[in-house]
Amino acid sequence: MATKVLVTGAGGFIGSHLAASLKQQGYHVRGVDIKEPEYEVRSCDEFRLLDLRRWENCVEATKGIEEVYGLAADMGGMGFISAHHSQILYNNAMINFQTLEAAHQAGVKRYLYSSSACIYPEYKQTETNVTPLREEDAYPAAPQDAYGWEKLITERLCTHYREDYGIETRIVRFHNIFGPNGTWDGGREKAPAAMCRKIAHAKLTGNHEIEIWGDGEQTRSFCYIDDCVLGIAKLMRSDYREPLNLGQDRMVTINELADIVARIANIRITKKHVAGPQGVRGRNSDNTRLRAVLKWEPEISLEEGLRRTYLWIEKQVRDQLRTDRVAASA
Ligand code: NAD
Repeated sequence: MATKVLVTGAGGFIGSHLAASLKQQGYHVRGVDIKEPEYEVRSCDEFRLLDLRRWENCVEATKGIEEVYGLAADMGGMGFISAHHSQILYNNAMINFQTLEAAHQAGVKRYLYSSSACIYPEYKQTETNVTPLREEDAYPAAPQDAYGWEKLITERLCTHYREDYGIETRIVRFHNIFGPNGTWDGGREKAPAAMCRKIAHAKLTGNHEIEIWGDGEQTRSFCYIDDCVLGIAKLMRSDYREPLNLGQDRMVTINELADIVARIANIRITKKHVAGPQGVRGRNSDNTRLRAVLKWEPEISLEEGLRRTYLWIEKQVRDQLRTDRVAASA
């Protein structure tokens, strides 16, 4: 009999890719989300629309399940995270605390929690040419936003549940995951998707001016979704119990990110720097432990990942412009 796994947040970006991959590997996948998958046809064996802020829904979600991948979260890019502190801390704490407790009560054996690079202290991320973040840099704790504080406290909860109850928890700290079939407009999109959308729009409308929040010299690393899904699978099957970074360790500025996407789109752009939330000044992943633990690290280049993402987003923008034209002429 196939192992029964639960993917929470299976209607979202990473969750839908992960669910498809687990199903392909032969697992029986139950997906749960508060919304239907937006871009992909359902890739789960069973999909349930449940609000995991409610205890009875967490009980239903985890019933008969052997392994959980906890990805559900109220989240978005910097514009969203920096403006919804109470909502994010409340919703995500409710989801994660209750899903973990329900999993424990249901006898779940393994539980992977999706944490974030946003747990790292702001004081270690004040320069563009930042030192890559090692897992032990998390303390003394000082995440920039409520989003990171909730991630950090749920990391602790996972560790305590393992120590106290024996549930094998795994904790992964994602660093800016991107790819097709993710949020690309509406206010929750993250930098790579927003950049692809702006540049696709520029290409298709002929207005080549691109708005960038701040001076664009803030730095990040970006990891393609296929590497993320592979890394999750490797960590879940490993015996490593401490938090682990999962990301690329090639750091680029947001201006460079724009230039790479413009080259893919084959257009020249003019950058207009405007006021907007920028998050920390610089951030990169130290992958020393990732390489040691998983004997592997993300392999898909930023250029290749962006090429695949851009092609998908250009199609979305083209479809949207067509819909807008039809509506305007009606
Ligand atoms: P996403 O927003 O696409 O997916 C999260 C999903 O959770 C959404 O489909 C959402 O509807 C669902 N959800 C929200 N509230 C819910 C509720 N009350 N009950 C049930 N489902 C609910 O985000 P993603 O990029 O796929 O992120 C997945 C996980 O990885 C999240 O926990 C996120 O914090 C974490 N993470 C992502 C990144 C990244 O770069 N994408 C970086 C760090 C951490």
